[in-house]
Amino acid sequence: MTVTVAALGFPRIGPQRRLKTALEAHWAGRLDAADLQREAATLRALAWRRQAHLGVDHVPSNDFSLYDHVLDTAVMVGAIPAAYGWTGGPVDLPLYFAMARGTQDGGTPGRQACDHGCAHETSASGLPALEMTKWFDTNYHYLAPELSPGQAFALTSTKVVDDFLEAKAQGVFTRPVILGPVTFLKLAKSKDPNSNGDFQPLSLLSALLPVYAEILQRLAQAGADWVQIDEPCLALDLTDFERAEIRRAYGALTHAAPRIRILLASYFGTYGDNLATAANLPVDGLHLDLVRAPGDLDAVIALARDSLVLELGVVDGRNVWRADLTAILDRVEPVVAARGPDRVILAPSCSLLHTPLDLAIETDLDPEVGQWLAFAVQKLEELAILAKALNQGRAAVRSELDAAGAAVASRKTSPRIHDPAVQARAAAVTAHDVARATPFEQRIVLQQARLNLPPLPTTTIGSFPQTAAVRQARAAHAKGQLADADYADFLRAETARAVAWQQEIGLDVLVHGEFERNDMVQYFGERLNGFAFTRHAWVQSYGSRCVRPPILYGDVSRPAPMTVEWWAYAQSLTARPMKGMLTGPVTILQWSFVRDDIPRGETCRQIALAVRDEVVDLEAAGAAIIQIDEAALREGLPLRRGDWDAYLAWAVEAFRIAASGVRDETQIHTHMCYSEFNDIIAAIGAMDADVISIETARSKMELLDAFEAYAYPAQIGPGVYDIHAPRSPASGEMLDLLAKAGQRLSPAQLWVNPDCGLKTRKWEEVEPALANMVAAAKAARQQL
Ligand code: GLN
Ligand code: ZN
Repeated sequence: MTVTVAALGFPRIGPQRRLKTALEAHWAGRLDAADLQREAATLRALAWRRQAHLGVDHVPSNDFSLYDHVLDTAVMVGAIPAAYGWTGGPVDLPLYFAMARGTQDGGTPGRQACDHGCAHETSASGLPALEMTKWFDTNYHYLAPELSPGQAFALTSTKVVDDFLEAKAQGVFTRPVILGPVTFLKLAKSKDPNSNGDFQPLSLLSALLPVYAEILQRLAQAGADWVQIDEPCLALDLTDFERAEIRRAYGALTHAAPRIRILLASYFGTYGDNLATAANLPVDGLHLDLVRAPGDLDAVIALARDSLVLELGVVDGRNVWRADLTAILDRVEPVVAARGPDRVILAPSCSLLHTPLDLAIETDLDPEVGQWLAFAVQKLEELAILAKALNQGRAAVRSELDAAGAAVASRKTSPRIHDPAVQARAAAVTAHDVARATPFEQRIVLQQARLNLPPLPTTTIGSFPQTAAVRQARAAHAKGQLADADYADFLRAETARAVAWQQEIGLDVLVHGEFERNDMVQYFGERLNGFAFTRHAWVQSYGSRCVRPPILYGDVSRPAPMTVEWWAYAQSLTARPMKGMLTGPVTILQWSFVRDDIPRGETCRQIALAVRDEVVDLEAAGAAIIQIDEAALREGLPLRRGDWDAYLAWAVEAFRIAASGVRDETQIHTHMCYSEFNDIIAAIGAMDADVISIETARSKMELLDAFEAYAYPAQIGPGVYDIHAPRSPASGEMLDLLAKAGQRLSPAQLWVNPDCGLKTRKWEEVEPALANMVAAAKAARQQL
């Protein structure tokens, strides 16, 4: 009878992002299906063996996916939308990847993405991909299953059984992972051609449960013992009906497969008001995310029957910090004493999909920062140490506990982390610092007098195509093959060309093009104190796409201006206004691994003050317009509505801190690339930007309804050019969109711009598109 260790899921992209390499070679026609499958099997074997070696007792299987585990679940149950022409039978790779990526006649299929996963299917001819959305509040994106009324389900893939047997043949007895039926249905998009949107995919539960029952029965026949069923919807606000459906589902499944022990896992937040439901399900074990919801432990213990196995998610699966092992032991020892070791499993808080693979290969990290970190492999090592301490006594792992304790102590005191000047400044922020001097109505008059722009002014969102030449020069410079001065010359030439071209086609407000930026967050992180960067710490964003978030470990400050030189150079080339271009504090926070020793809002305020300094310096250098991008503001919304106001309060305050250091006649723009504004329109209003540019081209301006209903007072640039598709819209199309915008907002409020930055596009697409956009604006001015 011992305490055991589980990993709910392991990074699937593999060492050196081997899955990415294999997938992209396959899509390019350089690796055939059999070889791709062989590489996938190798990666699975590596992951299983590695976890077993690290001392994981419940090694997951079926957590691996060639693209996405939600897509795999749709395939498992035969939920293939009619458009793909499937007529039953196994789903082959071409069909699987068609759902994942779409197909394009006469061209390469693939998603067009702006930055971190603002990803959309290609809309050219061919089959569209399934819609992609963020997985809860992570930066992982899943493919939303499409379900319609009367949807039939059938067991279509036995991958979960096959993977279990594959691991078993290799001597690793795994705990298969399945996405639960209720979460699957809740994540699905309802596709109902005939109804007015009242079809709820959850109404398909009765049709779906037999397939899940069959899978569990097959796993039982294959010899499986525990099966992990993920129902992270239990971390969301649910209705009484939804809770009742969860009870019904698990009543049916435990009945159908009595030999299987079900470990029900929710994560990313508290069970909250779903706790009584979860704790009383007839399952054998329940996973708790004790990082996000430490209070759930006592609450569950108070409710759960004695026989329920509790899986304690004590190590942070969403972040990169080394755990305080002694504090965890203090917490867990009494639970083990009370319930017995065989009723306690230790685990990360959630799947390790969200952490980088292995810290040991980060040879360039500053050793002081390095000792504070733990990636997936290290987190499993921590769990093994904890289990050993619980099973054999703390003395058995004394040196490991001491080392962890020393790292925790060093984080508490290191001057690399704690900067009294930054803390004092953040604490001294006053109401004066979070507000512009006068209201928008007065500022805009001064701004217009200064800028002297035509009605419906034209601009772009910031970046221009990052061509192969730009990427090659950056890589050569990073490797030391291109001298600093030569790289700077190259970037200046690119910038000058972009400025001259914008002027030539008649854009009113210009941008420098962001050629010097590798990424809109990394560029700033590299210039701020408090950030560290890794070489290999990739985390899957979707499919083959990975991100390498900066590690924000300490108090943030700005040692020197970050963008002023590039702005000044670009402005020196033209008499038209050149926008200063910055990434906002919430977006920098949201796309980094953030410290866990102070609240996120506090870190955000520190970043905001650093951005404010940059804004003020740009103004002093002469910038009349400064854009602060907040692409990630909405995705930061907490999972539970009850937590929204608190988040929005500090997020909006951070933006206002960043934006409010300037004079009235300096115009502040912001940009947000997404489409659901209804929930946050009041917060957008409270940001008090002078101009906001948003993504509207694909929604045909419908999302301006939210701005109209709110009577949004300031100026708006609704995107008229969908930059996610590899096509150049004609000016007539954009003129139509402008007319639609004009029906909802006063023309005096409107700007004309694309949906988002153009870094992922090609110049051949951008050149005609922007020329057409300028023509559309000119034509629209005639009609005013
Ligand atoms: N200024 C950035 C760009 O144009 C904004 C991108 C974004 O918000 N995703 O690339
Ligand atoms: Zn954008």
